[in-house]
Amino acid sequence: MEVGCGAESISLDLDILGGTVHFRISVARGQARLSDIAPLARRLSTKLALVVLERLGEKGEFVPCRKGCSTCCSYLIPLSVPEVFRFREEVLAMPAEQGRAVLRLCLDTAERILEVGPGEFDTSGLAETDEQIEINRVGRWYGGLEAACPLVSDGLCTLYEQRPIVCREHIVTGSALLCQAERTDKSHVVAMPVSVVQALGELAAELEQSDIEAVMLPLALPWAEEHIWRSQRRWPAVSMVERFVEILKAAASKDCATANAPSCCSGKAIAAP
Ligand code: SF4
Repeated sequence: MEVGCGAESISLDLDILGGTVHFRISVARGQARLSDIAPLARRLSTKLALVVLERLGEKGEFVPCRKGCSTCCSYLIPLSVPEVFRFREEVLAMPAEQGRAVLRLCLDTAERILEVGPGEFDTSGLAETDEQIEINRVGRWYGGLEAACPLVSDGLCTLYEQRPIVCREHIVTGSALLCQAERTDKSHVVAMPVSVVQALGELAAELEQSDIEAVMLPLALPWAEEHIWRSQRRWPAVSMVERFVEILKAAASKDCATANAPSCCSGKAIAAP
């Protein structure tokens, strides 16, 4: 986070997957907006994903995810509120033509989403016994739209460095053919030991004293415009990061009883690539 002058160092040790993952976070003192914490959250999720990949490798699990494979890029992509505002800023900072192209692609997909509501898809064969499976139903509905992510082009993510956290947290094992055949989770989506996007959503909700919100990527830009005043709110940067660290630690300790190693999880939400 780069706000204000002077920096404070904050440590984060996460006990996950039978080891401790250490992060040192440098935070400039001053005030920060929600969007300011998104790059830090992205970096943390990338590092956690690398740790998970390492453990999977040690267990001999095959991860088929490769550059050029975009099978997951037509899944529902929820962005936390800090990511939504960051995405808006990044699009505004692009060269005008590129920014207009991203906006146009997002709006085209948004139009399709809004035109075809969930009621028009047959989800009757899906269980609806708990919240997780309800999320799965939404993901299945979205998959039925066959709406590719507005940011994918020729099988590649055009904003890879700034991609959403859910894209970083989505790891599968097994064969690529299985992904293509199912286009859903079934049994091969890896449960992350800590969901950074969930933690970020919780942080934003706490700061804004609101419910935890998530916005589908194609709707993010119009949503951000509609809630633009929220993007200008500020909090002390150091306190914001300290609270984020506490939420992540709490999530890790909740999970550590069951997450001794990365596992595949039937019933895990499929919504996000
Ligand atoms: S943001 Fe990038 S990685 Fe994520 S779904 Fe879109 S194209 Fe794929």
